[in-house]
Amino acid sequence: MGAIIKRILFALTALALVLWLIPSPQAIPPVRDDRMALGTLVTIKLYGEEEQLRPLFAGAYAEFARVDSLMSHYRADGELAQIERAAPGQFIACSRELFEVLERSLYWAQESAGAFDPTVGPLTRLWNFPDVDALPDSAAVEAALAQVGYGALQIEAGGVRFAHAGIHLDLGAAAKGYAVDRAVAYLQAAGVEAGLIEAGGDIRYWGAKPDGSDWRFGVQHPRNPQKFFEVEDIGLVAIATSGDYEQYFEWNGLRYHHILDPASGWPARGAISATIWAQTAMDADILATAVFVLGPERGLEMAEKWPDVEALIFTEGADGLQSRATSGIESRFRFVD
Ligand code: ADP
Ligand code: MG
Repeated sequence: MGAIIKRILFALTALALVLWLIPSPQAIPPVRDDRMALGTLVTIKLYGEEEQLRPLFAGAYAEFARVDSLMSHYRADGELAQIERAAPGQFIACSRELFEVLERSLYWAQESAGAFDPTVGPLTRLWNFPDVDALPDSAAVEAALAQVGYGALQIEAGGVRFAHAGIHLDLGAAAKGYAVDRAVAYLQAAGVEAGLIEAGGDIRYWGAKPDGSDWRFGVQHPRNPQKFFEVEDIGLVAIATSGDYEQYFEWNGLRYHHILDPASGWPARGAISATIWAQTAMDADILATAVFVLGPERGLEMAEKWPDVEALIFTEGADGLQSRATSGIESRFRFVD
């Protein structure tokens, strides 16, 4: 299957299955537009007058296109590829937005003890999801791992410096969230009072729905796409999920997926999905990956440290599917058949 088709399929499953808004009875329908952006399917739902809202979709999707050109590691002509050409030790200036995402990424890399690591690029290139169907050999994993480590990414006013050669940045776990934040900011500035953006498992919403109904969300059951967990609105406007069911293959009975543990170079095994609630989609996106990699004990411990971060983690063991959650979400989700 071609890479693009595969990505579209992944994006479609992400849209249909990962997280979706549960329609409430007699709801006033939003004005809606769906497009492919950042390699995933993006849905924008806005509340208000259709003729005023329709013309705003183009501007909102333009935010995704701009973030893609700055931050995609798939683009040889993007800014990310451009700054990677800097010689070791050489200061290289970058755009204000790329700087903002790199700075936040470095912050969370430190806070997660490297579970989330924006320099994981050599490993993600080696594994090459989603176009992978065999294991890399362990010597190659070791070699790639030697190039990974956020300590070699130095942030300085307006730019960065790389401590050594062979650094490859991968903002795949942050850029989608950042793009959602930018598109929301655009729509808010244009006067849209309520809406929601969903991009491949990352959600952010704002305002109150005109029919007064609550925002309600579903978190997909990580092993059964027909089932989900309904979660109350807890007042944190950004929600992101990382799961081992989005991009994976099986080999000798084991599942290999696209979220890598930078400590080992292999797919992280502590959890099968992690959902994060936070104030921004970028933080939620990054933290979903970090908490997924950290697993239930260390992941929940980290998430509990911030009053405006909540986490819901699923694990799978001898006793089946288990859920673990931070205190703010614990009694506020229920299984729906
Ligand atoms: P998705 O993009 O499928 O919603 P994530 O937000 O968890 O899922 O991001 C996964 C992507 O992040 C991978 O495809 C890869 O590009 C990158 N990545 C994988 N492992 C890590 C990691 N430990 N730290 C930072 N980025 C990672
Ligand atoms: Mg993420």
